[in-house]
Amino acid sequence: MTTPTVPVVAHTRDELKAAREALPSRDVAVVMTMGALHDGHARLIRAARQRHDHVVVTIFLNPLQFGPKEDLSRYPRTFDADMEICTDAGVDVVFAPTPDVVYPDGDPGVRVSAGPLGDLLEGKARPGHFDGVLTVVGKLLHLTAARSAYFGQKDAQQMLLIRRMVRDLDFPVDVVSVPTVREADGLAMSSRNTYLTASDREVALCLSRALRAGGEAAVFGPSAVRRAAREVLVEEPLALVDYLVLVHPETLADVPEWYRGEALLAVAAKIGTTRLIDNTPLVVGPGGGAIDVFTDVPHARADV
Ligand code: AMP
Repeated sequence: MTTPTVPVVAHTRDELKAAREALPSRDVAVVMTMGALHDGHARLIRAARQRHDHVVVTIFLNPLQFGPKEDLSRYPRTFDADMEICTDAGVDVVFAPTPDVVYPDGDPGVRVSAGPLGDLLEGKARPGHFDGVLTVVGKLLHLTAARSAYFGQKDAQQMLLIRRMVRDLDFPVDVVSVPTVREADGLAMSSRNTYLTASDREVALCLSRALRAGGEAAVFGPSAVRRAAREVLVEEPLALVDYLVLVHPETLADVPEWYRGEALLAVAAKIGTTRLIDNTPLVVGPGGGAIDVFTDVPHARADV
């Protein structure tokens, strides 16, 4: 058995450029992360690895996407463990810059605007969040010069907005979505799960249970989906639900009762001190159901 090669670590723009130029092929995919890597990130890396000659992983805790009262300072930092995951998954280059490398002039005066879709759902709870996300994603796409970028369905609104940015602003990159990786009991993997106490973690299971209940009701139409999911959540008063929505996957508008086809059932809740999000794509109507909850099967719109 051959030991996997440790990725080259680049902290500066010059180091990244040198590492990229040393790669034998230009067929490079990027996986962007904030570190504290888990099996969800590893799945993205492996998916990228299968289809491309090289994979660059970025590890950057982007201050621009955190609000003043959010968890930037307590966000887990686990660089050594992250490197092990990157090594095992076959990453070529890890780009781990500090904020002054990414934003050498301080907070950028010019940013990418996420537009109206960025004000809904997560954007309502986290004003400016998606402008910060898109700004850094745009910069990291330029800096890594990747041909493809892999993102998780776990952050469905982020995925949608990145796809829109790439299309609306003509970024020369393919965006690939990867289904959500879950713990055996259904909890969606997240770096923020480390904040959960043992009892919070039990409470948090109501999110994936609600999505599964919604998926099972999908054949009966939108109100049945919403009702089934809500019934699970009301059983768990310690989950402070911010939203539970069944929306069109492209517009994020609530789907009307007559709607049949692909939709997104998404939930956000505060559990203890931790805000968690989860979602499942589903098909509403005859033959419908959840598309990826508790399975590893790529859903219809995913490229993986
Ligand atoms: P983060 O480090 O949380 O910003 O996530 C980096 C990337 O990993 C994003 O594209 C996320 O959507 C993706 N991701 C996070 N959690 C999961 C998961 N449980 N399954 C699949 N992808 C994930």
